[in-house]
Amino acid sequence: MPPEETDPSLTRGAVEAPDEDYRLLIENQTDLVVKVDPDGRFLFVSPSYCRAFGRTKDELLGRPFMPLVHEDDRAETAAAVAKLYRPPHHSYVEQRALTVRGWRWFGWSDTAVLDDEGRVTAIIGVGRDVTERKAAETALAEATRRLELAVEGGDIGLYDGSVLPLDVTVDARYLAMLGYDVGEIQIDLYSWRQMLHPDDRDRVQTLAEQVTNGDLDRFEAEYRMRHRDGHWVWIQDRARIYERDADGKAIRVAGTHMDISRRKVAELKLEYLVDHDELTGLLNRRGVWQSVQRIHAQGQRSGRSCCLAILDLDHFKLVNDAYGHAVGDEVLKWVSARLRQEVRQADWLGRWGGEEFVIALPETSEVQARTGLERIRESVSAQPVEVAGQQIRVTLSIGFATCNSDEGDPRDVLARADMALYHAKNSGRNRVCYDGNDSGVYAVSMAVLVQSALQTARILPAFQPIVDLRDRRVVAEESLARIVAADGRVLAAASFIDIAEQLGLLHRIDSMLLSATADRLRSSKASGATPLFDFVHLSGDLVRHPEILKTLARELDGLCYAANGGPSVVLTLSERQITAETEQVARALAPLLELGCKIAVSDYGGDASSFRFLIHLPVSFIQLDANLVRLARESARAQSILATIQHSAKDLGITTIAKQIEDEATLQRLSELGIDWGSGYLFGRPSEPS
Ligand code: GH3
Ligand code: MG
Ligand code: MG
Repeated sequence: MPPEETDPSLTRGAVEAPDEDYRLLIENQTDLVVKVDPDGRFLFVSPSYCRAFGRTKDELLGRPFMPLVHEDDRAETAAAVAKLYRPPHHSYVEQRALTVRGWRWFGWSDTAVLDDEGRVTAIIGVGRDVTERKAAETALAEATRRLELAVEGGDIGLYDGSVLPLDVTVDARYLAMLGYDVGEIQIDLYSWRQMLHPDDRDRVQTLAEQVTNGDLDRFEAEYRMRHRDGHWVWIQDRARIYERDADGKAIRVAGTHMDISRRKVAELKLEYLVDHDELTGLLNRRGVWQSVQRIHAQGQRSGRSCCLAILDLDHFKLVNDAYGHAVGDEVLKWVSARLRQEVRQADWLGRWGGEEFVIALPETSEVQARTGLERIRESVSAQPVEVAGQQIRVTLSIGFATCNSDEGDPRDVLARADMALYHAKNSGRNRVCYDGNDSGVYAVSMAVLVQSALQTARILPAFQPIVDLRDRRVVAEESLARIVAADGRVLAAASFIDIAEQLGLLHRIDSMLLSATADRLRSSKASGATPLFDFVHLSGDLVRHPEILKTLARELDGLCYAANGGPSVVLTLSERQITAETEQVARALAPLLELGCKIAVSDYGGDASSFRFLIHLPVSFIQLDANLVRLARESARAQSILATIQHSAKDLGITTIAKQIEDEATLQRLSELGIDWGSGYLFGRPSEPS
């Protein structure tokens, strides 16, 4: 920097009276020294100047200096020269000049030489090469400009201040990100924590403490801060500690805030899609599997039982076939929404794939799970879905299993739930079944159902025709037990007969069917319809309940046509019942036989076949074992056995009946063997229960 004031006498003396000292000083000077007249022509040039410009003293003296100055810097140089005519007669200018090393920057400190009247007679300039400094300055300016651009363009907020206690100065952009103006809020530990999202607070605080203690070098975190208007802004916070005490504890911190909400939202959406299903918005297979594993592990730790359920829409292919895939998709969405409404807060629901769903039920007993799943099943089936003006009724089959505490892999639990689902499908769909390995609970629930059906008289007969195989004329009908559940679903005998037998309730089912048959006979007699043989089952239990038989005898009185040789009620007993207690059976049935009822033996030709009871019991019909009938289509040996049975039956005046005939080929074979009557889908399915 040029001195503010220069004593004119000093400069005057220095140049006007150069002595040896000054000469040496100037000649060895690395700075350039020149003296020019008021027109700018060289009066003196130092050897350093000559070296710099590659000219001799003689080449320069008397010539103007200005042509040596860079064109762009001449105006500024002229202004600096003009300034010398005014006190303090000193100026400083930086200009480029073409030296032997190319264009270089020189900083010139100029001083005017004045005469006694104060007129400028000459100018002395001392120049110094400042090219390096100038380059550094330019680079710095450039870097600063770039930083400013980055900060502005990148929307980066800055903060800086003390760490303990936290008290930082923040810039306008920091505040603007959160919706505040400068000076509106103060950022200290308390206000900062208050603004953090509760879910991020502890994580960020822990990290900040590690950095403060010196365990971590730098702070870098992504978290949410509350915007002034209430929404959450995702912030990327990067900070450095630039001062620590002797113990390494942080003293001062500086950092940047960047609003990364847009990136974060995109990231979160991607993350969401990784474990969610796009169609239904539920967890997808991957997502629900993770929940399953988590809940299973929790259950292992806590020892409290949890359950897994698999739900599958019944006959969903039909929905697609009938209404198209798009409607099918809508139905899936509707079902998903329903399920979402019905599951408890703690449960995890997901789409397992296609039209299958999984629910993981933490800390849930089997009974609780069943109750909840029944509610879900009912809720889906209760009302039809309305899609595109169509009313579509859908039902769910559900299998579930409990996680055993010793079961290391939740896959095993799912496998059992899947088995239970299979069971639910097989036993009629639209139901909840428990655990593939253990149908005990299923049996219990079925027992409850059978008992309640008996109490509310919802065990009803369905009738299936029996035809004469020669001309396919309907000659008889068999009444089959059905349970009609409260929701209207119909259960076939196969699904509850075994249970009813175990519970000792079979005789009650039998007697209900017998009285229903009696009702039917009564009304068909009244209407004058052609009489048929009516086959009804009697279980062994009935034999042990003579009081029921008596009641039945009263009901059937007058309804059997046998007295005048016509069709009658036929009591069907299994071969097993009769062979064991032929005499008791004969005695118990005597009153009914007296009324004209006839006896049929079912499953004849099965496992424990015997002819002996035919001697003691007046059997009129033999129903052939279904397996034997099926085998007869292919096996010559089975045909031979059937032929023998047929032969004996004919001799004894017994009518043979084959069941479950489904195709013409079987019918053909049975006719050839002379079998009298038959039933099966080929002739007619059982009626709806009435
Ligand atoms: P059930 O389960 O009662 O035995 O009979 P189902 O007809 O449901 O049989 P299954 O479970 O084998 O078939 C599932 C069908 O679900 C097959 C496919 O047509 C349909 N499905 C699977 N995923 C989708 C889907 O994303 N959209 C639609 N519209 N249909 C689907
Ligand atoms: Mg399926
Ligand atoms: Mg299905």
